[in-house]
Amino acid sequence: MSDLIKPQDTAHPMVRSEAVHKSYGLVEVLKGIDLEVKQGEVFCLVGPSGSGKSTFLRCINHLEKVNGGRLYVDGELVGYREKGDRLYELKDREVALKRRDIGMVFQRFNLFPHMTALENVVEAPVQVKKESKADARERGMQLLERVGLAEKAKSYPAQLSGGQQQRVAIARALAMKPKLMLFDEPTSALDPELVGEVLDVMRGLAEEGMTMIVVTHEMGFAREVGDALVFMDGGVVVESGHPREVLTNPQHERTRAFLSKVL
Ligand code: ADP
Ligand code: MG
Repeated sequence: MSDLIKPQDTAHPMVRSEAVHKSYGLVEVLKGIDLEVKQGEVFCLVGPSGSGKSTFLRCINHLEKVNGGRLYVDGELVGYREKGDRLYELKDREVALKRRDIGMVFQRFNLFPHMTALENVVEAPVQVKKESKADARERGMQLLERVGLAEKAKSYPAQLSGGQQQRVAIARALAMKPKLMLFDEPTSALDPELVGEVLDVMRGLAEEGMTMIVVTHEMGFAREVGDALVFMDGGVVVESGHPREVLTNPQHERTRAFLSKVL
């Protein structure tokens, strides 16, 4: 286990979703999501466009408030503080603290364009965690090395390929020493020949024991690296199981229809 992974209390799952509902206005997007992501697990979330995958990740990451049910990250309720049998909404400051522990990687890399790769990686540790610049730079270089980009430390995002930018984005998320990493279609915007280098970095992270929720259409990755797979459609979990099981022997027609399009 590397220094990237914080020792964790393994008594509870990393994420637990109990009947989670989310609506935008009158449109119900999540219609009661029940699932559990164990610590150290690579949890693949698949399903057609519009099924609510990104919304669910955004709820886990405090970017959206759930309208019903309960969502726990590392044993703590998302968005609220429990006191006796009462719930208090978290203040922005408290939410910001919790969000530090969750890394998120998006389809679009969202690097700061005016900063070099290394500056992108050290920005949050220095600005948010108040780490010393020297320490953050040293660790930042280690992280860039880890994603195979040490020699690009001084390059700006525009000088990097999509795959390289995405690897910097992963290093940037890791710089905050997250206990959970969320990946929202991290390879969907990449040219096909660049997908592998990003998946390789994710595979390495999985081998080190990082807990990861991965929204992806890369079924090869799900099959080889995933510990669990959930198929979502229309805001509900249609089926779940071990990736090999679900991918080889889907039980529901909707799953079969989806898989026939992406496999
Ligand atoms: P997926 O990631 O599976 O493609 P999303 O979670 O992005 O699905 O979206 C699920 C549904 O929620 C879609 O119908 C989308 O249009 C709707 N939706 C997502 N975000 C918003 C928003 N901020 N306001 C209104 N509707 C939204
Ligand atoms: Mg999405």
